[in-house]
Amino acid sequence: MLEVRAVRKSFGHVEVLRGIDLTVPAGNVACIIGPSGSGKSTLLRSVNALESVDAGEIRLGGELIGCTERGTGLVALPEKQTAAQRARMGMVFQRFNLFPHLTALENVMAGPVRVQRRPKDEVRREASDLLDRVGLADRVEYYPAHLSGGQQQRVAIARALAMKPELMLFDEPTSALDPELVGEVLDVMRELARDGMTMLVVTHEMGFAREIADTVTFMDEGVIVEHGTPAEVIDSPRHERTREFCARI
Ligand code: ADP
Ligand code: MG
Repeated sequence: MLEVRAVRKSFGHVEVLRGIDLTVPAGNVACIIGPSGSGKSTLLRSVNALESVDAGEIRLGGELIGCTERGTGLVALPEKQTAAQRARMGMVFQRFNLFPHLTALENVMAGPVRVQRRPKDEVRREASDLLDRVGLADRVEYYPAHLSGGQQQRVAIARALAMKPELMLFDEPTSALDPELVGEVLDVMRELARDGMTMLVVTHEMGFAREIADTVTFMDEGVIVEHGTPAEVIDSPRHERTREFCARI
């Protein structure tokens, strides 16, 4: 499903991704862990065509992911084509950037209606089913300001799912939440994984990774230090850096 090959990316003189290789088969959940600044978000943003890469390639279902940014990207594509590629992936960020002036239901409907130009009635039914699926059937008319962080993040997940993505990307989806709200978001992600969604998840929730992940990848300073099953990477890491990191979490 997702293939990342020899990807490199610099910001100015700093090389943030230094040859990343990662494959996520369809239906798998791949967790990425690693210290702050190790390049995890940059990798996810590159997969989602929000950043262009300097070298290497990223493929989704065999198709090369490009980027519209001029100058640096090896694969430069027209904006329309990058937008179409981006629509094949759903991304959930640490901060639940919902549209503040739209209700939960309208937030979930926005993509399919405005971007995909699908009929409103049909989209409304799907959106309300999705909100039901993330446990928010009784919150469809609420504005983000009146929802807890955990509820907002579940709306954000429903909003991403509304575009019927082939791949879901999560960038520390629970890091900004109060501890008591983390579980409800992880529950939704767990359900999604059980339903067979292909997921690439940056997280520090080791319990979640241990239970749900097919693979865990430990990144540090722009390289993959260790990759394997959760049992291998989290419970018996081979590298000193992984050991130190896991001991700290
Ligand atoms: P992580 O998500 O693992 O914390 P990031 O991918 O956010 O790491 O960042 C990796 C490095 O790249 C950091 O040193 C960060 O400061 C730098 N960086 C990220 N985005 C940019 C940017 N747009 N411009 C310049 N430097 C950036
Ligand atoms: Mg990050």
